[in-house]
Amino acid sequence: MMSAKINHQVREAQIQEFEAAIKDVSEPYVCIDCGWKGKKSQLGGWLGFVGAEAFCPACGHSEFLVSGKELDAMNREDEKCKLQHPLSCHSNS
Ligand SMILES: [Zn+2]
Repeated sequence: MMSAKINHQVREAQIQEFEAAIKDVSEPYVCIDCGWKGKKSQLGGWLGFVGAEAFCPACGHSEFLVSGKELDAMNREDEKCKLQHPLSCHSNS
């Protein structure tokens, strides 16, 4: 039964793909337009395929979605900016 062995290998590959996809869909996402927060699997338009365009389920925009990692990087940039320009907030006084 050669085919049984081949099917087993295909199944192994499918399981690995599936596990990678599961890990991927639990990635946190934030919409910086409306403030929606959730997992990648909750995004509108996410069909489970690479390249499928996802959009915010709350406001329908795709251009404002950022992953948790990107948001962290943006927050770090903000903090750096505040530290570098501590007086800019009080420039009106
Ligand atoms: Zn949104």
